[in-house]
Amino acid sequence: MDLIIRDGLVVDGTGAPARRADVGIRDGRIDAIGDLAAATARETIHATGHVVSPGFIDTHTHGDVAAFLPDANDDLRTAELRQGVTTEVCGNCGFSPFPNGGKVADLMGSLFGANAHTWSDLAAYRAAITSARAYANLAPLVGHGSIRAAVLGFADRAPSADELRAMIRLGEDALAAGAAGISTGLVYAPGLYAKTDELIAIARALRGTGRPYVTHMRGETDMVADSVHEAIRIGREAGVPVHISHHKASGKDNWGRTAETLALIDAARADGVDVTVDVYPYTAGSTLLHSILPPWALADGIDAMVARLHDPAARDRIKRDFRDGLPGWQNQQRAAGWDGIVIASCAGRPELEGTRAADLGPDPADAVFDLIAEQRGEVTMIAHTMREDDVERVIAHPASMIGSDAIPLPGRPHPRLAGTFVRILGRYVRERKLLDLPAAVRKMTSVPAARFGLTDRGVIADGKVADVVVFDPATVIDRATYEQPLLTPAGVRAVIVNGHIAVRDEAVGLRPGVMLGG
Ligand SMILES: [Zn+2]
Repeated sequence: MDLIIRDGLVVDGTGAPARRADVGIRDGRIDAIGDLAAATARETIHATGHVVSPGFIDTHTHGDVAAFLPDANDDLRTAELRQGVTTEVCGNCGFSPFPNGGKVADLMGSLFGANAHTWSDLAAYRAAITSARAYANLAPLVGHGSIRAAVLGFADRAPSADELRAMIRLGEDALAAGAAGISTGLVYAPGLYAKTDELIAIARALRGTGRPYVTHMRGETDMVADSVHEAIRIGREAGVPVHISHHKASGKDNWGRTAETLALIDAARADGVDVTVDVYPYTAGSTLLHSILPPWALADGIDAMVARLHDPAARDRIKRDFRDGLPGWQNQQRAAGWDGIVIASCAGRPELEGTRAADLGPDPADAVFDLIAEQRGEVTMIAHTMREDDVERVIAHPASMIGSDAIPLPGRPHPRLAGTFVRILGRYVRERKLLDLPAAVRKMTSVPAARFGLTDRGVIADGKVADVVVFDPATVIDRATYEQPLLTPAGVRAVIVNGHIAVRDEAVGLRPGVMLGG
């Protein structure tokens, strides 16, 4: 064998109870499970008292270009790996770094790193990742926002018939090149300019692939139930599986409403629509600061947005919209309040990272407009908008998986980047007993593997790819906090990716990740 993990408690990802066994790995695959006392290996990990589970599959990240982060940001690029994530589903919320040179980076550039890394198509992106070498494996979705930006920029209008055909074609091309699904971000420009019929037409490209329509829905605040209805309708009419991203109920007025939305999802599932969700175990979200602006203020791209923010009349109109809302628009500023919005990453003004919007100036709205305009949108925020009982209800639901929504940018990123999976194991399994360990591991391994077509992964079984985590169930937990968001978790002994030891006793060595689906 190349590697034997001896005497661990194998939690195999299927939901079956733990059993004591050795696990042998050869040529990147699991070669034997059982008593391997007679076998020898080049390397051995002694795992007595430790759990040996499949590597975690993070269903929701924005780590598309983390492999291109400079060495100075090593803690950022390895944060997923250090908590046991061996595969990231990226390209979420409508944003992939392709196609067509990533015209979407005009307004959403900070998602693609300091140099706005983007590519003509998935094949070019795959080649770039292969030469840069990833930490964890990547399973990229193609973003509807990126497709829409490629065809009609940030225009606030419906596509013509020709434009719609061009968009569908880009979706089909990406799926043929191995994309794990199509994502939408219906609170972000340009995705928010799409009506439901456009989304159904795009989602039809998924028919016959088994891969899901993945959606950051139109609303997670007042419109959360309507938005679940829309997602289900898209799945039903397109005839494809639906995966709702980072499911939550945001804003005080909506706390408790995941009981209602999960009941809608249960009813749809009972009715034959294949709907699943993912969730991160925190009561704060994180996204681009300019996503608080109303749709009209984001139209036509970055220069148009900045020009509006310099116009006093437009500022007054945005402030009125914050106060009164607009039909069909999720008002995130109102859900969080200026007290609940904290600057996360701002490369141009790092001294502001960690500062509440309420403390940016005498009029927080003006201060935020100034900052967005000055930084040309390259600012992210953390928004405290949720309540713990909703978070726990979604984690415990049988249709949920775990997705960190990690945004690996320097500064004070959300601690979910470094903490999500170990927080599930430490806080929600060991301390709160919300789930038992085999059920939690299943949610983080075989269930997402099946959802995103990663048929070779997600279970410890003979012949499967050797993506494996070894952790101490008595001590595993997140250490990352809002103040110190990149602290290495406790209790992770080893992380093995494609048969290679990538993390051992907190030290990160190799970059063994590859892009899947090719
Ligand atoms: Zn999202």
